[in-house]
Amino acid sequence: MDEQPACNAAPSGDMQSIVGGGHSSGNPDLSYSPPNARNAYGAGDGDGNALKKTLVNLVPPATVAVIVLFWAFGPRSWIDNPWSIVVAGALTTIFVQALEWFLERHEGWRLDRREFATDLFYVILSNTAISWASSKLAEDPLKAAKHSLGITTEWAMQLPFILQVALVIFVMEFGQYWMHRIMHDWRPFWLTHAPHHHITQLNAMKGAVGNPIELFLISLSVLALFDLPQAAEFCAFNILGAVSTFAHANVRSDPPPFYSFVFTTIRHHSLHHSVKYEDTRCNYANSLILIDRVLGTYREGESAIVGQDERKRLSIWEQFIFPFQPTIAWIKAKQGEAVPAAN
Ligand SMILES: [Zn+2]
Ligand SMILES: [Zn+2]
Repeated sequence: MDEQPACNAAPSGDMQSIVGGGHSSGNPDLSYSPPNARNAYGAGDGDGNALKKTLVNLVPPATVAVIVLFWAFGPRSWIDNPWSIVVAGALTTIFVQALEWFLERHEGWRLDRREFATDLFYVILSNTAISWASSKLAEDPLKAAKHSLGITTEWAMQLPFILQVALVIFVMEFGQYWMHRIMHDWRPFWLTHAPHHHITQLNAMKGAVGNPIELFLISLSVLALFDLPQAAEFCAFNILGAVSTFAHANVRSDPPPFYSFVFTTIRHHSLHHSVKYEDTRCNYANSLILIDRVLGTYREGESAIVGQDERKRLSIWEQFIFPFQPTIAWIKAKQGEAVPAAN
């Protein structure tokens, strides 16, 4: 996108020292040592300190493990309830949001009331209007087409539970990866995605913040074409939500390679939110960073200072009208031309 504003931001390595050094937690044992994840286990630390850092870094993989165990072995009455995914998703978000209190990554990303209210608004919007639109305009027609064309994927019903979950994660993420990449490559779609890049700090619920058109587009998937048990789908949705929430959260967990090679982390995604537009052209996968690694769009690094267009924070109204700004500007220009003509 050549049209993007030129930014004078320092390289992301320097950004870290600008914001990251101000952490003022009362517990010095848990102070974060960015930007290199290996520092979390750094030489010179006491054994207790290193153990705490290891445990903190294991929080995201442990969360995913608990989610898998719940959906695989939880009480049937809970698992089969259609509202269980809403409750599980909400509890996961509350858990990660609460971690920001105890394991803050950057003081500059600390949540205030305005940020919290905005984030909450978008979480509710995503779980109501966006979810409804996605179901009525995309999922239901796709299911109807599948039915009328006689498409069946009985083989998917025969897979082991964990492979069914992996299949859902891959189908969802592969679609989202390409949608996200197109949004960065094609201006009409970028105009819908740019508001998400205008956020100036990262927090647990920030993944839900964006223009409603973008939120709808990114929700589209071909998953409805597959026959799969509800528990496997809900497990995958819960994992994707947890990984994405951690990837946006102000939490100083830097998960070990067995997790970060496959799943997107805050390091990967904060780099994607860099001020410098060229630095955002990487790490597109919302949750499955493995796709970026395979398709050559992975980049190592992280950024503590985030936000497009010289870090201009947008209000909810500005986020809503953002894609229409060129049209509004064109109409205003036309009106400006019309006024002298009328005289
Ligand atoms: Zn993006
Ligand atoms: Zn994001």
